[in-house]
This record gives sequence, structure tokens and C-alpha cells, in this order.
Amino acid sequence: MLTKTKIYLSSPHMGGAELDFVNDAFSTNWIAPLGPNVDGFEEDLKYYLGDERHVAALSSGTASIHLALQLLDVSAGDEVLCQSFTFSASANPIIYQGATPIFIDSEAETWNMCPELLEIAIKDRIEKNKKPKAIIAVHLYGMPYKANEINEVAKRYEIPVIEDSAEALGSTYFGKACGTLADIGILSFNGNKIITTSGGGALIVKTKAMKDKAVFLSTQARDHAPHYEHSFVGFNYRMSNVLAGIGRGQMQVIDDRVQARRKNFNFYKSNLDKFDSIELLQEPKGFCSNRWITCIKTDSYAKREAIRLALQNDDIESRPLWKPMHMQPVFKECLHFTNGISEDLFEKGLCLPSGSNLSEDDLNRIVEIIIETPNL
Ligand SMILES: *Cc1c(COP(=O)(O)O)cnc(C)c1O
Repeated sequence: MLTKTKIYLSSPHMGGAELDFVNDAFSTNWIAPLGPNVDGFEEDLKYYLGDERHVAALSSGTASIHLALQLLDVSAGDEVLCQSFTFSASANPIIYQGATPIFIDSEAETWNMCPELLEIAIKDRIEKNKKPKAIIAVHLYGMPYKANEINEVAKRYEIPVIEDSAEALGSTYFGKACGTLADIGILSFNGNKIITTSGGGALIVKTKAMKDKAVFLSTQARDHAPHYEHSFVGFNYRMSNVLAGIGRGQMQVIDDRVQARRKNFNFYKSNLDKFDSIELLQEPKGFCSNRWITCIKTDSYAKREAIRLALQNDDIESRPLWKPMHMQPVFKECLHFTNGISEDLFEKGLCLPSGSNLSEDDLNRIVEIIIETPNL
């Protein structure tokens, strides 16, 4: 009997050229957090994002958010408004800075930060003489947030926006690349993301001076001197030249990866859309999602669990949607502005396997199990 292979939610997918760039790093002995692959990977990203921004390759997406907060002078006692429906890494760096997160719920069209709630929160904090220092909005699962509306609110109150584009490399918003829609953008190249360096991230900024400052801080903030001289607290956050080699190989296939993930979504949609109890997130006009993960929203917790457990029984990985930060034990004391949307998504939503390396047989196997769910 043939044994079925395990299907993962989102696994790494090498293109082929990665090992050549890694071998270059070895043969030239650039085994360090600097070198030709780091420079080359930054160039590739800059070009891909539209060439108007500057990119610093860093050790993770989390480190990139932490440096973004540093660049915006967020410090102890400051308040930062953060999308509640996200992965904890969007919010943790706020705590690293000694600042306080305040969580904002989502709207129903993109599942991302609700601009109206954002404004309500800002007004409330200003009234209490606590004007927020920054906003962190997230393109969750690759779907762009309502950037025009968020930017408009942010501009009205003169608060800078950090764009958490960790899940959205390859997504666009009215033709512009996600990662370039706010004051500072960040990317992640963790193993489960649309392209990976095994672990890594990038900071996307508007000026060369800001990039230089980010690189300075990420390489231990060493002043210009023959000895080690320091006027600032630095970090060890630069990307390794070996890992940047993987990134250069991955950038050769990024368009294929986006196409494959969007194809997964369309497959799921064409097979599951006919069920009234299953809802798939549509792209509003002008929004293009890389469909990093295809998510479904069912009509009850019980149905969501029935599907998840049936998949698990066949060695297929699926996962409930992100548990909102305002519901997390670690953030339970934090102020939050909510409307029930992210709690409902957490209760009824499921992430389906979405890797760019899924075969047609894999997709058929997954869908067959889902549609056999009783009372779907
Ligand atoms: C993955 C992810 C991060 C963190 O990136 P790392 O590279 O894993 O540190 C931050 N925000 C979101 C939304 C993510 O999905």
C-alpha cells in the first residue's frame, strides 16, 4: 500500500540557483554578516519593490520591526497602535522598546486594521494627553490593508506608520508594491514565508540616510575610529552573507511563487465557493494579494474544528487563523479597541495548505477531505 506523504501549511521551495550563491560565499570566504550576497540581495529587493526605496537586509522580520521603532524614536513610556489580528512578532518589539502596545481590531473587507477604529483610538489617546508615537499595520496573509485610509488618518494626526509586510512580498496595492506604502516597511524571509533565507528580514526606508542609520544600528553601532568606539546602543541584526545567497536565488523565482500561491487560492475557491458555510476573502478593487496563505471562514467553531481534525487525520496540516493579540495572555493588560471581527475570524477561520510546491494531487486530496465534512 502506498503511504500518503504529509502536506505542510507552507514549506520552503528552492528555485535552484540558491546553492550557487551560497557556494560563491564559501569560495570567496565571505562567511560574515556582510559581503556581495548581502549587497546583491538588497539590490534585487530594491529593484523588485520599484527602486524608489532603500533596503537593509537584516536577521529577521522581528529585528526589522524593532529597528523601525528605533528609527522612529519610540522609547520607554510611548504608546504604539498595533493591528490586533496578527502574529505576535508584530507587537513584541514594542515591548522590547519599553513602550506600550494598544491593539486595534480589523475591518471585514481585508481582515486588516480598521481605519475608523484607528481614528477613534487616536482621538481617545490624544484626549488623555498620550498621543501615539507610531502605528503598525499588517498585510495579513498577503492581503493589503486599506493603505489610503490608514495613511490618511495617520497623516491627519501626524503619526508615522510601520508597514508589516512580512507576509506580503509580491502583493500590490493600486499597482504599488506592499512594503513601500508607509513610512517604513518590513519583510520577513522566515522558512514559512513566500520566499525564504531560512531566517531573515529586511527594512524598507525612504532615504539612503535612514538605511545607513539602520545598518549602523544593526552592526553594533560602531563609531568611526580605529578602536571600538560607541556613542549608541547597537544590535547584532545584520543578515549573513551565506543566507543572503539563498535570498538571491529565491528572488529569481519570486514571480513564479506568487503565481503558484494565487493558483492555489483559485483552486480552493473554485471547489469550495459553492458551499454557503465557507467564505474566501476577495480582493477589493485595486488590491492584489500574493495569497501567501489561503484562508477559509466557516460558519461555526464546530465546523472549523471538524475540517481541521479531518485534515489532521490524513496527515494534512491546517491551522486556525491568528489569535488576536488583545486575547493573548501576554497582552491581556493592554488597552484595545475592538469590534468583534478578529475574534469571529479566530473562532471560525482556518488556514489551508498553501505552499507554492503543492501538487495538483495534493490540492485534490485536501479539497476531497473538506467537502466530505458532514453538514457542510
Ligand atoms: C513572520 C512574521 C513576522 C516576523 O518575521 P520573522 O522573520 O519570523 O522574525 C512579523 N509579522 C508578521 C505578520 C509575520 O507573519
